[in-house]
Amino acid sequence: MDLTFNERELAFRDELRGWLAENQLAPEPLEGDEDEHYSWRRDFQRRLADGGWAAVHWPVQYGGRGATLTESAIFFEELARAGAPLPANVLGLLLAGPTIMTWGTSEQKERYLHPILTAEEIWCQGFSEPDAGSDLASLKTRAVRDGDEWVITGQKVWTSGAQYSKWCMLVARTDADVPKHKGLTYFLMDMEQDGVAVVPLRQITGSPEFNELFIDGARVPEANVLGGEGNGWKVALTTLMNERAGLAFFLQVRLRQMLDRLVAEAAVQGKLEDAVVADRLGELHLRAEILRLTAYRGLTSVEKYGQPGPEGSLTKWLWSETNQQLAQFAADLLGPSALRAGDRWAYELLRARGNTIEGGTTEVLKNIIAERVLGLPKAR
Ligand SMILES: Cc1cc2nc3c(=O)[nH]c(=O)nc-3n(C[C@H](O)[C@H](O)[C@H](O)COP(=O)(O)OP(=O)(O)OC[C@H]3O[C@@H](n4cnc5c(N)ncnc54)[C@H](O)[C@@H]3O)c2cc1C
Repeated sequence: MDLTFNERELAFRDELRGWLAENQLAPEPLEGDEDEHYSWRRDFQRRLADGGWAAVHWPVQYGGRGATLTESAIFFEELARAGAPLPANVLGLLLAGPTIMTWGTSEQKERYLHPILTAEEIWCQGFSEPDAGSDLASLKTRAVRDGDEWVITGQKVWTSGAQYSKWCMLVARTDADVPKHKGLTYFLMDMEQDGVAVVPLRQITGSPEFNELFIDGARVPEANVLGGEGNGWKVALTTLMNERAGLAFFLQVRLRQMLDRLVAEAAVQGKLEDAVVADRLGELHLRAEILRLTAYRGLTSVEKYGQPGPEGSLTKWLWSETNQQLAQFAADLLGPSALRAGDRWAYELLRARGNTIEGGTTEVLKNIIAERVLGLPKAR
């Protein structure tokens, strides 16, 4: 991939820089609670949407800018330069939107895409269950047809952002008599109904970022099946591929922001001259650059094949380990001040523990890379 920008890309970058300079962010609420931080990100997404910047990679007809992959990369990097947060509806923008664009009917695209852009309707991902995580296809949540509706019963777990969500990308079993991958259907489930209870799960950080979902007779109209009955596995794979490739791109940018912040704090404390500190920061810088270039390479795969490839698993693995190392080094470097309750670094250190589990565990990603990138024999 050619990493030099052409004139059109430079013009895109300058327009965005101009917009970001004119639309200064409110300061990040560092001491506030999760809800306050979330509304800060939601406000930011609304402003992006007003300026036509919420989803530059979406086609123009759906409210995006039809940006090329390089322009999308420029977009994320410029957000990082400006110290901007991830937009609040990140699962809608990166997962639900692209999945609906790939599999949705024209009515579904018309109905769901616009409110994703404006953060008016937040989305969550109802895939994992207490007995189905890595082996997603063994999920037990059942959907039974009742006239032109489906009645859903079961339990989901680790559902991030469900407390803010209007819609859920839900995978449920519609046929128990066929092989497990074939009996699944993908639903767009309205969270605002009596049959859905959201119970917060408090993480080690103290914040309930994810939840249990108890679904007891929730109703979903036939019109909200995405991709057709029995096709849920294929539709879910579209979501998962977008999750690994798209989120990795977002997250490598965020990792760069954190590393820059750590270097600045080390400089304030006069620690940059310390050879051990310089060595560790240098290594983190190197990993962040490898991650950035690998994420660009992942974009090339989208360019060639029209959808993210298994290489996204590599960026997700590299990002999660580097992020954990960075958060740990920040605590080593800054000492007890980085461990105070409420401190942003303490949050990063604790939150990073889940990085090697969420969005596919490291072991599962290694299997995918071994089999589908390196072509090694299958583990099972
Ligand atoms: C912060 C966070 C946010 C999350 N958000 C969401 C969300 O919004 N929506 C959602 O649906 N889910 C979400 N998840 C759930 C996440 O997708 C699962 O935790 C993950 O897929 C692993 O599933 P599991 O927890 O059931 O572990 P298991 O699949 O039971 O795995 C247990 C252990 O066995 C290993 N293992 C499993 N299979 C294999 C194999 N084939 N080869 C080698 N080792 C293996 C795993 O690596 C792991 O170490 C989130 C998780 C976290 C931590």
